[in-house]
Parts: sequence; C-alpha cells; structure tokens
Amino acid sequence: MARIVVTGGAGFIGSHLCERFLAEEHEVICIDNLVTGKADNIAHLFADARFSFIPQDVTTYLYVKGELDAILHFASPASPTDYLELPIQTLKVGSLGTHKALGLAKEKSARLLLASTSEVYGDPLVHPQTEDYWGNVNPIGPRGVYDEAKRFAEALVMAYQRSHGLETRIGRIFNTYGPRMRLRDGRVVPNFISQALRGEDLTVYGDGSQTRSFCFVTDLVEGICRLLRSDYDGPVNLGNPQEMSVLDFAKLIISLTGSRSRIAFRPLPADDPQVRQPDIRLARRVLEWQPQVPLETGLRQTIAYFRDRLDHD
Ligand code: UDP
Repeated sequence: MARIVVTGGAGFIGSHLCERFLAEEHEVICIDNLVTGKADNIAHLFADARFSFIPQDVTTYLYVKGELDAILHFASPASPTDYLELPIQTLKVGSLGTHKALGLAKEKSARLLLASTSEVYGDPLVHPQTEDYWGNVNPIGPRGVYDEAKRFAEALVMAYQRSHGLETRIGRIFNTYGPRMRLRDGRVVPNFISQALRGEDLTVYGDGSQTRSFCFVTDLVEGICRLLRSDYDGPVNLGNPQEMSVLDFAKLIISLTGSRSRIAFRPLPADDPQVRQPDIRLARRVLEWQPQVPLETGLRQTIAYFRDRLDHD
C-alpha cells in the first residue's frame, strides 16, 4: 500500500486517478482548489477511509503530514476556454504549483509524475509527434499561457531530477475524453455532445480539417499508472493514435446521438494546432501500453454520462 497525493484530484482525469488508486487499496490525498475541478467528481470517494481531500491552491504552499510515496501533479486548467479565461492562474499552477509539488516530493523522497501535454508540441511541424520533437509554440499567443507553463514545468521537473536526484516521470497527455468532463468546459467533446443532445448546431471551428486523436479516460489512466511504476524517466506520449478531422468527429457525434443537429462553422481560434496525433511507440515499448477502448465505445459511455447531466449542468 502506498500513500499518494493527486493535485487536481477533483478534476476530470485527477478524479479517475484517485478512484483507481483507491481501488488498488492505496491511501489517496486529493488536493484541489476547485477552480475547474468539481466536488461532485470526488463525492463518492469520501466513503473510503483511505481518501482525504485538502481544498487548496497548490501555487501558494503544499504541505502534507507523514510519509509519501508518490505525487501526481495534475492541477491545471486544461481546456483552451478555461486557460484563456484563467491565463495567470494557468501560468502560476504550471510554474509555482509545479515548484511546490517538486519541493514536497523532495522533502518526502517521493516520486513525482507531471501531467504534461501534447500542447508542448504547439502547432506541430512533425507528424505524428514523437517525444524528441521540440515543438512549435507561439510563446506570446493566447494559448502560450498553457503551453509555456507546461514546457516550464517539464524543464523544472528535469532540473529536480538532475540536480536533486529526484525520481520523476513526465506524461505528455493528448486529447482525452470521458465521463466527468464538464459539460461547459468548452472542449470539442463536451461541446459537440451537449449541442447534439440539445438539438443545437454543432460549432465546428475553421473548416474542420484540423485533426485530433481522442483517448478514452480509462486507457489514459492505465497509461499513467504504468508510467508511474516504470523505470523510464523521460517524457512519454500518452494518447490514442486514431486521428480524425474535427468535421468528421462532428458527424460521428451526430450519428451516435441520433441527433437532428446540423453543423455550423465558426472562426478558428488563434494558434489552434492544425494536426495532432501521438506517436506512441515509446509507450508501447517501455510501458507495454496502448489504448484498448474503441472510439465509439468510449463515446457511447460519454454520451450517456452527459445525457444524464444535461438538465442539471
Ligand atoms: N473545436 C471545434 N468546436 C468546438 C470546440 C472545439 O471545432 O466547439 C475544435 C478546436 O478548434 C480544435 C479541436 O476542436 O481544433 C479540439 O479542441 P479542444 O478545445 O477540445 O482542445 P485542443 O485539442 O485544441 O486543446
């Protein structure tokens, strides 16, 4: 049994991680300031005596009594809409928050896993993206607040690994979807599903030719757990390599929901990456991991989740 801290543990991916570690009989300390996380996501976990919750902003300080085995640093706004609304908080949690998480890991001699992102590759000029690609990021564009915060976070993690001998892991997470995404978080999956369920137009940004590759959350969580336990201490892409255009994705959602919605084209946001697909050869090799859940299966579960919540959100 291990003692594990999950920052951002009330968020979409964070809450699935808390659940997974509790199922493995570990003790889980969830830290979240609930800016984009939701108490609802973790409400069912309080019944477990091994779960505790600290409502706190990790950019100010981070202290946990007793020994710790691992810290998973998942706190951060992660939807473009959120980080455009919270640019300074996003920069702070990626920089100051990562610093605090690393400080705690050092103090406790715990292993730290950073939730990094495909956004470190920016609007990529290498396709699919391999871990050795340095990226194409606009540092002063609106998305730069997230991209550069995560790039800085990776640099800081590597510095702690090299200077202090800290055990660190970096997962570069590509587009992930599933239950517990916020209906209104602005990302393409909740937007399209809620629009389709309400019979509203699906808002495709640009001409919809830009591509994304969507990974179901249970697959991602499995990849994170394997990375945490692995010996590999460099960045590892975690995502589903099945790539499709945003326009085709809109059509798929209309068909899976049986909706009468139509497609409406809207302006493309600044610096929106034109393509994105993880090269997961490294994850296959060092983690023996690859996604298992077919897109339609994951989307049906996600649609069912949103259908249940449509009237309450
Ligand atoms: N997108 C869209 N309509 C929406 C929301 C997003 O066409 O209502 C597009 C967005 O421009 C991007 C892709 O879908 O090309 C994925 O966007 P998301 O916000 O989910 O995350 P990103 O992959 O850009 O970080």
